[in-house]
Amino acid sequence: MKQTIGYGELTNMLLAAVTQIRGNHELLSKLDSFGGDGDHGTTMLRGMGILEETIKESSSRSIHTLLSDIGWAVMGVDGGATGPLFGSLFGGMSEPAEGKNSIDTATLAEMFESGLASVKTLTKAKPGNKTMIDALVPAVAALRKAADDGLSVTDALAAAAAAAQKGADDTKQMQAAFGRAKTLGKKSIGNADPGATSVSLIFKGFIEGVK
Ligand code: ADP
Ligand code: MG
Repeated sequence: MKQTIGYGELTNMLLAAVTQIRGNHELLSKLDSFGGDGDHGTTMLRGMGILEETIKESSSRSIHTLLSDIGWAVMGVDGGATGPLFGSLFGGMSEPAEGKNSIDTATLAEMFESGLASVKTLTKAKPGNKTMIDALVPAVAALRKAADDGLSVTDALAAAAAAAQKGADDTKQMQAAFGRAKTLGKKSIGNADPGATSVSLIFKGFIEGVK
């Protein structure tokens, strides 16, 4: 049960997220093939490869610098909406971590709120529109509640991972209003949104990596 995380734990979390995406990239592309262009898994693989490289090349051991570097690197991944959306999530997360080498639950909640705020500068998608927002918003809300309730970082991340998973599952019933899947209309109902599924896999990696 961790009350705080440092640089080492954060890199473990990020690398476990990379592993989760690598193990599920085929599913992500399959989900994207129903309403999109079927490239979400390969784009996420590229993004995760760049994320891993950025960790390996980083020598500062600064949480702020690492997340900021990851943000810029992932933002530049080609392949549509995903690079900018996920890159801005990591980049936004870096800001509340400035000057800190130990992250408690309150700071972690602030970091994810800042990441979500960055994502929101790129999209007007709201919860219910069948996008990555549908997993991210409940995960960030769970982190906020955990921080307000005084939970450990481990318990907070477990709650966030459960909320993200539920949020991704809930997208099955939704009709896409953003991204390429929008053109499908009602036919988009039935399968989970690929981006929301990626968010839930990333949080699954985070909780595995912090344990
Ligand atoms: P693209 O749609 O450009 O091919 P990807 O296939 O990699 O990009 O990613 C698709 C995912 O990106 C969708 O499942 C959705 O979650 C997310 N997404 C796409 N466009 C938007 C948007 N405008 N707002 C929020 N999320 C979006
Ligand atoms: Mg796509």
